[in-house]
Amino acid sequence: MGEFFNNGSCNKASGLLFEGSGEEGQACSSESVAGRFEKSVDHLQQLVALLSTSCLGSLIGDVLEDVPVPLLFFYDVNPESATVNSAARNLLSWTSTSSQIPPWLCSQITMLLMSNSGERSSEVCRECQNGENQTLQIELRRLVRPSFSGVIVALYDISKHKAVEQALRMSEARYRVLLEHQSDLVLKIDLHGIIQFASPSFSKIFGVTESDVSGQSFFTYVAGDKQAEFLERLHQKNCRQQACYEEITLQTAQGARCYGWSLKALADQGDAASGYICIGRDITEQKEAEYSIHQLAYYDSLTGLPNRVLLQDRLHQILSQTNRNEKKFAVLFLDLDRFKSINDSLGHAAGDELLKQVAYRLKENIRGADTVARQGGDEFVVILSSIEGSRQAARVASKIISTITHPFQVAGRDLYIGTSIGIALFPDDGRDADTLLKHADMAMYLAKESGRGKFTFFSHELNDRMRERSTMEAALKKAIEQNELFLQYQPQFNIKNRYLTSLEAFVRWNHPEYGVLMPGRFIPLAEETGLIIPLGEWVLKTACDQAAMWQSYGRGGVPVSVNLSTRQFRHPELSEMVARSLVVAGLPPHRLELEIQEHTLLDNVEASISVLQELKWQGIQLTIDDFGTGYSSLSHLRRFPINRLKIDSSFIRNVHSRSEDADITEAIISVGRSLKMSVVAEGVEREEQLLFLRDHMCDEMQGNYFSSPVGSRDLAHCRWFGANA
Ligand code: C2E
Ligand code: MG
Ligand code: MG
Repeated sequence: MGEFFNNGSCNKASGLLFEGSGEEGQACSSESVAGRFEKSVDHLQQLVALLSTSCLGSLIGDVLEDVPVPLLFFYDVNPESATVNSAARNLLSWTSTSSQIPPWLCSQITMLLMSNSGERSSEVCRECQNGENQTLQIELRRLVRPSFSGVIVALYDISKHKAVEQALRMSEARYRVLLEHQSDLVLKIDLHGIIQFASPSFSKIFGVTESDVSGQSFFTYVAGDKQAEFLERLHQKNCRQQACYEEITLQTAQGARCYGWSLKALADQGDAASGYICIGRDITEQKEAEYSIHQLAYYDSLTGLPNRVLLQDRLHQILSQTNRNEKKFAVLFLDLDRFKSINDSLGHAAGDELLKQVAYRLKENIRGADTVARQGGDEFVVILSSIEGSRQAARVASKIISTITHPFQVAGRDLYIGTSIGIALFPDDGRDADTLLKHADMAMYLAKESGRGKFTFFSHELNDRMRERSTMEAALKKAIEQNELFLQYQPQFNIKNRYLTSLEAFVRWNHPEYGVLMPGRFIPLAEETGLIIPLGEWVLKTACDQAAMWQSYGRGGVPVSVNLSTRQFRHPELSEMVARSLVVAGLPPHRLELEIQEHTLLDNVEASISVLQELKWQGIQLTIDDFGTGYSSLSHLRRFPINRLKIDSSFIRNVHSRSEDADITEAIISVGRSLKMSVVAEGVEREEQLLFLRDHMCDEMQGNYFSSPVGSRDLAHCRWFGANA
């Protein structure tokens, strides 16, 4: 018996691919395989007990033959007595000629006999005749009876089961690799947010181990205090049918990162959810990009304040709420005073810094519910939501004006600006966003006109005025084209010898409806609308033409003075335009004098100097008009290539009776003298003024005392024009 089994050595050469036993075998066998074997053995044992020893062999053979399970029975553990049923023969591919107990089976029986156990379970993988691999589960049992002993062997082909198992194992391995290498976070949490499973990526971003994470609350890792809120939202959302989406920020080892979570309820307790599968993706960059796009679209990049678009949006929001509640709100339109001159003189970087500081102060001075937006340039809009009435709006406007009046520290120096504010109230001044903004803007213009640093409420009279203004604008355009403008000339004399030194040209408008209009009525409008450029060119051409004709009156040497406004002076083609007018009129350049107001020159000193120099090179005379109203420093004056200083008429008016005006006039005369400039006094109406000026060595004078401005045709009749006064 022992010999027989020793013959069948078990090795790979015997066609065995692998061999497993004991636990492994049990682990691999399915319940149905084990169950089927138990039944077969029981059946056989009962049979053996019933039969007499003599006829056992043949009878067992008969009985086993029909059993569908491949079975082998070794009676008396004798290889010669092997009974092999047809199912086993089929499995082992026995033919009538070749029917040998395979060596791997021999070795299994040997191992069973050598062990103390009465049974053995094992798996072998063998190569079939057709070359395919086959995995067999072998169940062996010793049958020991007083009369005989034997071994019963059952073989089960578990190849398919193995293949499925292998596929499962591979799929699990693939899944594991996927989990380990993907950056998305995968979590399984219960209904209270306790983590039951976390992917390696989750522990990695928090710098902890996988076992640290398991059993912890998910909210330990959530930034901020959003736990209750999140769980509530999660339970409310129906994530059972399909995944729902939530965004939560996690406090990771690298700082706060935003994750977009796809959440799906697990319903393994009937209908009710038992927990959630959460898959999170880092969307921090996407969120940052969204944020920057949003900022770009809705916020001013310099000040960080809402821009025009967001302002419109907020206005519409407030309108829809206020319309429902029948409440009032106010729109304040702000424009900074003197901002342009700071921007021009100190540069754009200083201007930008100033705007940022203004924005900050505005925000500081309004309530959280109110809005302050940058409308563009140096314009801001404040929306005061839900106010009692105009008084409250006026209070806020004065507070804003006073806070903007305080100096701003920019580039190491104190800058002083101011602001003018127009106010429109809902619903009285408009019921929609555009009307309210337009009316607040109109009111702001009025505030500027009435002296800056003030606030003005919109009124329907103001509306009428603005309408009149736009009618005037159209009319002025027409006036230039249709020759409704004309010039008057006022003489200027040398005080000492009363010689006529020059004639200053003043423009007038013969309005078809209102009669003759003085420049104060239309020059500011022309300046604002840009009409000053064609108007100014007309004045210059006409004045030059006229001056060229004075030759025929024997006054060929008298220069003509022409006033230039700020916009004209800053126009890039001023120099060409002047040269053209002189050439066309045939007037020598030294017979043209240009008057530029002091504040125009101070707006941007460097730029002013270069324009003045260009004009000077042409040989034109230059005068600073209304001198004394700006704050020219001596160092600036020295750099301006100027011939004359014209003292502002406001100092001359009371120069004989008011000591301050007398002092200023005296000072200007002495400054002019020290800079070798001729000094002119304008607005001289009385003899006392003349005497004062003469006594204080003022060079020239101009005013109604001698002659008010006269038309070109009347010049010939003026005594002073034909001969000296
Ligand atoms: P301005 O150049 O300082 O002119 C002096 C103003 O005082 C003129 O007023 C003149 O008519 C007036 N005036 C002259 N003598 C006396 C006087 O004894 N008493 C008083 N009370 N006033 C006197 P006007 O013509 O109304 O011009 C006002 C301002 O308009 C001018 O101030 C000038 O800045 C501007 N302007 C006038 N014509 C033109 C022009 O053709 N182009 C530009 N850009 N501005 C002009
Ligand atoms: Mg003038
Ligand atoms: Mg003047």
